[in-house]
Amino acid sequence: MRLHPLLAASLVLGAAHAPASAQDATPPRAPVIDVHVHAGAGRADSPFYEVREGETPDGAFLRSALADLDTNGVVLAIVGGPAVHAERFRAAAPDRFVGAVAFPCTGGLDPNLQQCFEDGSDWPDLAWLRAEADAGRVGAIGELYNVYAGVPVDGPEMAPYLALAAELDLVVLAHADAGPPPEGRTPGCCPNFDGALGDPAHWRSVLERHPDLRLILYHAFRPEYVESAVALLDLYPNVMVETSPMTRVPTPLVHAALARFVEAGHADRIVFGSDYPGAVGGSLAVIQAAPLTDAQKRAILYHNAARFLRVDPEGAEPERP
Ligand SMILES: [Zn+2]
Repeated sequence: MRLHPLLAASLVLGAAHAPASAQDATPPRAPVIDVHVHAGAGRADSPFYEVREGETPDGAFLRSALADLDTNGVVLAIVGGPAVHAERFRAAAPDRFVGAVAFPCTGGLDPNLQQCFEDGSDWPDLAWLRAEADAGRVGAIGELYNVYAGVPVDGPEMAPYLALAAELDLVVLAHADAGPPPEGRTPGCCPNFDGALGDPAHWRSVLERHPDLRLILYHAFRPEYVESAVALLDLYPNVMVETSPMTRVPTPLVHAALARFVEAGHADRIVFGSDYPGAVGGSLAVIQAAPLTDAQKRAILYHNAARFLRVDPEGAEPERP
């Protein structure tokens, strides 16, 4: 029997999730790549996981995140957050996580009021970032919190970081959304919040400077910004979109955005991201229910990101910088 290439890939990539015995009829799950996972400090009162006896909240968060990836067949994920936590997650599963450093911050804190950097700064030290990338611990920058910090992506403060990303071929993860609305933010978060900075159009002058920058526009579901995203997709083949948080916005909005990207000829530019802890399964269900072909859904869930991240189809390993 000749295996369909997709099935062959899923058999290889799904090996870690394969049933323990041949009697178990559960088929291997088709692989998924999630480009939007968050690392952070664990919380004793988290709604997403329970802290078990003998476990720290940090350990519980990591355990639950890995379990969520396992349950849903995620073979590779980009994990962003405060530098120390992104690295904590990556180091626990280096074949599965690409590490990403989140910034800019406000008063040293991210939108969840977690400290971003050990020195209390709002920005990573450039030489440190270069060294972390050279060592393979950082493969991306983001989630970029320009909207929360009120700092434009096309301004002078961002310029050296985007030049470094272009030079080192780091993936850039942009919070390209006008939200979340005030009721969706952590109380005390973000006195400088400016949703207008989330318009993907702000990336145009950056891409004119760095046309090869590999950029993922997070949250590209909002009607007022979908056309800005399409305009960037039309111009730059190294720009991708995802439509998280799919468990928190009306599904018709997400499906309309997906349909628009496909209609514009960009079915191969949509990638999957779950965003919140514990959101992988619910987000997968939104994609599975979308008015798309099975091949288009598989492209969103795996193949588009595998191509963009240059994953070896045999081993699910991203190419290291
Ligand atoms: Zn996010």
